[in-house]
Amino acid sequence: MLVSRENHPQDTVVKVNNTSVGGGNLTIIAGPCSVESEEQIVSIARAVKENGATILRGGAFKPRTSPYSFQGLGKEALNYLSIARKETGLPVITEITDIRELDLFDDIDIVQVGARNMQNFALLKEVGRFNKPVLLKRGYAATYEELLYSAEYIMAEGNENVILCERGIRTFEQYTRNTVDIACVPVIKKMSHLPILVDASHGTGKHELVEPLSLAAIAAGADGIMVEVHDNPDEALSDGSQSQMIGRYAAMTAKIKRLYETMKEFEA
Ligand code: PEP
Ligand code: MN
Repeated sequence: MLVSRENHPQDTVVKVNNTSVGGGNLTIIAGPCSVESEEQIVSIARAVKENGATILRGGAFKPRTSPYSFQGLGKEALNYLSIARKETGLPVITEITDIRELDLFDDIDIVQVGARNMQNFALLKEVGRFNKPVLLKRGYAATYEELLYSAEYIMAEGNENVILCERGIRTFEQYTRNTVDIACVPVIKKMSHLPILVDASHGTGKHELVEPLSLAAIAAGADGIMVEVHDNPDEALSDGSQSQMIGRYAAMTAKIKRLYETMKEFEA
């Protein structure tokens, strides 16, 4: 298997413009759930960049449970992302929900395949033939083996730049939106050479739980985190309750950076 550490003992380092994911580089992907306007994405992009973000996120095509919920600004959002990218120099990541969108992704640095599409094999093959890094999120009912087979679909098409992301799985617990599976991190690290991040925003659904679970992810050996940040979470068009305000995000990233360095010292 191309994903397995057995055949590839060294960590894979995915180069994304001026930043690298994996191999001892701390990755912080931050930004709103959805791109809502040019002003919104540019101002959040500036704020997260000032506070440790290495990559900007922002949804353009949103996979929503209800067809009546905000579906994202689509193509317009991609234009705003490319403005934010130019303004800040941050690489950008956004989710693809349909193979036909790929032509619009020229100015996107990382293509995200979301949890709901983890086993959309046609989409996996297509991004495997596309010349951009892919971030693959774990499906909320997917085993580690299934996650790795999905990554294998991408790699088998020739794309070696795959980043994995644990984003919480569905359990009997109702208090949190999902249950962040911290064990995923050391297990995947053992099985595979691919970088793995943890998204505690979707993982918990609660902004106040993002910091403790993100720190836990780093302590468990994750290569970084994904986090939803909003300047006005109460008015967010999607996922406001799990989005951090800038101040709280800034305080969290300071701790994340220190913990990441401490973990490196432990390994040295
Ligand atoms: C997202 O990151 O915007 C998203 C929808 O995440 P997930 O696929 O993990 O639900
Ligand atoms: Mn979201």
